[in-house]
Amino acid sequence: MKTFCGRANPTTGAMEWLEEDEDYDYHQEIARSRYADMLHDKDRNTKYYQGICAAVTRVKERGEKAIVLDIGTGTGLLSMMAASAGADFCYAVEVFRPMANAAVKIVEKNGFRDKIKVINKHSTEVTVGPDGDMQCRANILVTELFDTELIGEGALPTYEHAHKYLVQEGCEAVPHRATVYVQLVESRRMWSWNKLFPVHVKAEDGEKIIVSPSEMENCPGVPSVCDIQLNQMPSSDFTVLSDVVTMFSVDFSKPIRSTSTYYRVQLEPVKSGKAQIVLSWWDIDMDPSGMINCTMAPYWVKPTSALQWRDHWMQCVYFLPGEEPVLRGEKVYLTACRDAYSVWYNLQKARGEEENEADVRVDSPVCRCQTHLLWNRPRFGELNDQNRTRQYIKSLMTVLKPDSVCLCISDGSLLPMLAHYLGAKQFFKANHLEDKIKIIETRPELLTSSHLEGKKISVLVGEPFFTTSLLPWHNLYFWYARTAVVSHLTSDVTVLPQAASLHMMIVEFQDLWRIRSPCGTCEGFDVRTMDDMINNSLNFRESKEAEPHPLWEYPCKSLSDPQEVLTFDFRKTVPQQCLSTEGSVNLLRKGKSHGAVLWMEYHLVADISVSTGLMQISNEKGNCEWNPHCKQAVYFFSSVTESETLTDLPSAVTYAINFDPKTGEIAMDFKL
Ligand code: SAH
Repeated sequence: MKTFCGRANPTTGAMEWLEEDEDYDYHQEIARSRYADMLHDKDRNTKYYQGICAAVTRVKERGEKAIVLDIGTGTGLLSMMAASAGADFCYAVEVFRPMANAAVKIVEKNGFRDKIKVINKHSTEVTVGPDGDMQCRANILVTELFDTELIGEGALPTYEHAHKYLVQEGCEAVPHRATVYVQLVESRRMWSWNKLFPVHVKAEDGEKIIVSPSEMENCPGVPSVCDIQLNQMPSSDFTVLSDVVTMFSVDFSKPIRSTSTYYRVQLEPVKSGKAQIVLSWWDIDMDPSGMINCTMAPYWVKPTSALQWRDHWMQCVYFLPGEEPVLRGEKVYLTACRDAYSVWYNLQKARGEEENEADVRVDSPVCRCQTHLLWNRPRFGELNDQNRTRQYIKSLMTVLKPDSVCLCISDGSLLPMLAHYLGAKQFFKANHLEDKIKIIETRPELLTSSHLEGKKISVLVGEPFFTTSLLPWHNLYFWYARTAVVSHLTSDVTVLPQAASLHMMIVEFQDLWRIRSPCGTCEGFDVRTMDDMINNSLNFRESKEAEPHPLWEYPCKSLSDPQEVLTFDFRKTVPQQCLSTEGSVNLLRKGKSHGAVLWMEYHLVADISVSTGLMQISNEKGNCEWNPHCKQAVYFFSSVTESETLTDLPSAVTYAINFDPKTGEIAMDFKL
């Protein structure tokens, strides 16, 4: 079946009707899913296997039959582990139909058809009884329903229901227990993802400072967790204010309540400073003794043990509602509040013995200033990047004249305010400085000269940044908007940025390759059905697509020099014809060519550019430093070529890249 879906094209801005295959969504879900990453997570898999074996053994030693309930079976992996460990029967429940179908095939292929029953239902719909999905309640409960925040995927309500209706009292659970850890830190870098710092503008008549209004200053922000690869955060970017402490733990073998609650711990800061951030992660004990432990602890917690890279479980950054000065040794209370699906934190100064229970705020943070709804965390970081702001200020200074009439096209931009302080006479579209800056709430193609009070625009500016952009080149929407407003521009209009260019580089990823790499067998089980399914979904649309990733979190090394592949001249309107290029890029280092990274650079004025991608290649090994506020586009090659020496290299990668101005899409093809 085909359906038509309306959407705004992120690059051209046009409303378009796309014919979507009914299967489109689930192909997207599978192609972009974390199943492959989980199957590559050796540490997780071996520990689950050990935990499951131990649980089956304990049940058998009690002289009972081992009846397993595996909620969220995915590929069927954990049920197959249980069956191999000697379980008498497994009920494998999976709500996502394509996965349940895959589980049936995988179970069959591995010879467990008689031992494992796949049930394509949400666990809360599963029935028990002679005519039910399950003949009887299970005595072993196996699940892997956790996200980076532990409970964000609904583990608590699922467990609550399972204990009431699907498993026996005193059942074994794998994992047995989860524990959430926290550490209080001060970090200008992470705090810059949540608050707008003062912006310093050096104008001719002295330095001006743009400060955020008090409603922004005092806003607690948004409740959604910020999950990142904390292992990529150098220790120089934060100051530890407390030891790592246990915040709370959950025993999965006992009945569970998912209703809102809070946990409180007393902390004694190890250092004085500004408490801003709670870093958090969890571990799971696969057995009651705690001998089989799988931890998400970052590098500084257990520096000696090897770290398992994984993308499906990372670490959490929580922003306190406001920054709080703390003194070394002076006790404070940290409160974790949670509802069924999320966690948030508060800090209170200790008040002697009687801690004030009424003081605990259980409301989840709500943004009152609107900016946390407009700007996401990386965008806050970008606006707080003083180096970047300086480039824009320098550029604006070269183009602004006392009689300039400016139009800014960018979402939630500070450019109008910068330009105002730099002396532009009239500015359209921005906030607060009502008499000097006018906000026009319209789409560029609907702009009329009355919006502009009959004036012509002499300076058109943009960062460009649009909240609708997913891939780097979606911000080319600026070019389309510039084209749409052409009749309102003076004949000698200055456009800033004057041009953009698309850059490309071949890389070897340290780890990110795993998320798109076939698995073959996992702990001895044949999961190629899953590989085929992912591959099929990746190729669902004829042309493979690039995908956005914030590469500061995913180390890679360059195998080629960066190469400029296309340029877009914003001084002219969008052309009718396609822009295409073909060429080849030499491989300079040995390594595995996992894919190409693509990003945009904006040429603000003749000699000032900003990069949204590569900042620098930091050493002779080719390690790359990426813009920490932007996602880059990654095009994974379908087969990876490895070159041990420079002589057996495919010494070059050829590429063909095409920008179609009608669709705004960039199609690419690479040959190794
Ligand atoms: N057990 C597999 C897959 C884990 S991913 C493994 O460890 O490799 C979690 C899976 O659980 C997803 O496929 C999701 O669709 C499914 N799921 C989550 N909650 C569920 C529920 N309450 N009932 C049934 N399936 C659920």
